Amino acid sequence: MTANRRSKVFLPPSRADSLDLVGGELAWDFTNTSSGRGSPSCQEHLRDFDTLMQWVEHARVLPPSDCGYARAELAGHPRRSRRIFLRAIEMRELIWTIGTALADQRPVPGQLLALLSAAHAENLGHAEMKMRLGSYIWVWDPHRDIQAAILGPITLSALTLLMEKDLLRTRRCAGQECGWLFFDTTKNNRRRWCEMRVCGNRAKVRATRERQRQARKGQS
Ligand SMILES: [Zn+2]
Repeated sequence: MTANRRSKVFLPPSRADSLDLVGGELAWDFTNTSSGRGSPSCQEHLRDFDTLMQWVEHARVLPPSDCGYARAELAGHPRRSRRIFLRAIEMRELIWTIGTALADQRPVPGQLLALLSAAHAENLGHAEMKMRLGSYIWVWDPHRDIQAAILGPITLSALTLLMEKDLLRTRRCAGQECGWLFFDTTKNNRRRWCEMRVCGNRAKVRATRERQRQARKGQS
């Protein structure tokens, strides 16, 4: 317990409320709330129900008034909040695993698609169709079900992109210890980085250092 506490103290603050939304799809942005999975420099921004809600509001999954309602409703209900948080992480990792298969141009295992479809069906049971700007869309109201209101738009995004998008444009950032997913919408279809100014620049700095190291070696 002491070790746990200690490691929590040194954890850098979560950036759930300010992460760049560069995935091109809500589902990819959701997976990008963690980076460097499996590496020592892994950064996890979703740590509990509070940080989940920070991201939900930041990414406009729900309007601020609905986020306020969900927070108020679950205040003092740590077990319910925890359950929603754990389900959100489970969904995020499922979508990330599907996304990495697409980025590697591997077939997505049917079992994963079935899990996603089942989650979507579950969330859809709490949705309503409403007219917005000339067409009907699914809308989730947290007054009906908070978990479905948070996860419904995300699983819908994941499913819609699987069915409607050019999946060959799914990319995983080439940055070491990043792994963010995004849609490459560039004309030449050659975007390598989640963001040039972050992972692209880091790679450039690393390459320069490596060249300098090689040059020094050559001189000695
Ligand atoms: Zn990156």
